[in-house]
Amino acid sequence: MADEFGFVPHFSRNKHTRHQFKPKPFSDYDIDVKITACGVCGSDVHTVTGGWGNKNWPIVPGHEIIGEAVRVGPKVTTVKVGDRVGVGAQIYACLDCAICKEDGLDTELAAPMLCAGLTAYSPLVRNGVGPGRKVGIVGIGGIGHFGILFSKALGAETWAISRTDGKKADALAMGADGFLETRVDDWNKPHQMTFDVILSTASGDEGFDLSPYLSLLRVHGKFVAVGLPEGEGWKVKPQSLLGNGCFIGSSHLGSREETLDMLRLAVEKGIKSWVETIPVSEEGCGKALERVHKNDVKYRFTLIDYDKQFNN
Ligand code: NDP
Repeated sequence: MADEFGFVPHFSRNKHTRHQFKPKPFSDYDIDVKITACGVCGSDVHTVTGGWGNKNWPIVPGHEIIGEAVRVGPKVTTVKVGDRVGVGAQIYACLDCAICKEDGLDTELAAPMLCAGLTAYSPLVRNGVGPGRKVGIVGIGGIGHFGILFSKALGAETWAISRTDGKKADALAMGADGFLETRVDDWNKPHQMTFDVILSTASGDEGFDLSPYLSLLRVHGKFVAVGLPEGEGWKVKPQSLLGNGCFIGSSHLGSREETLDMLRLAVEKGIKSWVETIPVSEEGCGKALERVHKNDVKYRFTLIDYDKQFNN
């Protein structure tokens, strides 16, 4: 929610400042949310750097929001004033906060689940991840760390696949059963044709050679790429699909139903997001984006202290 003056943290290409804007007219189906926490996604970095080609400055990119409903349109049936609610990257999506309140999903831990968590959870479930399956998670960032947590929670053997071994200890602490470091020669060879599903969350394509990843898949295994690198993306040679007849696909966020299932699973299994909090000041927003850009966060930032920044 913008405060009564319409202030929100705002990002332009080179600086991060408070900004005033006029919210759209409030309609019967709208909910006004007083934000208390917001995760910082890799997509925010692609957006504010202009890497995806966006030119519509100024931009307010945050989309992993938890807050309190302070005004509810008369036709809203699922939320009442005072509820703790969440908003992900989908317009008009909202959560039934009874679930958040049920068993202690802390606000700053829940916020990043609404985009990053769901982006990992949905394709895992839709591609049959569960007991007896071997799953690879490529890229141990915000989405990737949820990939490990949720794949394990769903009962699958889960391997982290990262460019260096710098995140190995953390990935194993998250529950990964194994770790593959892709800068090592022939890193894929010992695991060829053993994975059922690979979820790629890689946000870049520099030095990314798809073939060794595909070689890891069993016959008709699936490579699901949710990462959205800037630029041209990778090239796919049909030859690299022949050996195992594997499939390549993608996935966008997930449904509201899956959001609720994911939050239930997180509560049931006691899943804790790995989060660093940072105040939602001009300085804090800049620092968070800079560090996500540099791959220097364990493993998601959540912006907090909205009251301090906007209520004075
Ligand atoms: P993060 O920056 O937190 O993590 C991205 C990870 O990608 C890094 O930690 C790194 O992992 C890996 N990576 C970066 N560059 C390369 C490269 N050249 N080759 C291989 N791996 C690389 O980002 P998020 O997790 O927040 O987002 C990941 C991507 O998913 C972004 O592109 C984002 O825009 C997109 N996204 C997609 C959504 C969808 O619905 N499909 C929704 C939300 C975001 P490591 O250091 O372990 O190698």
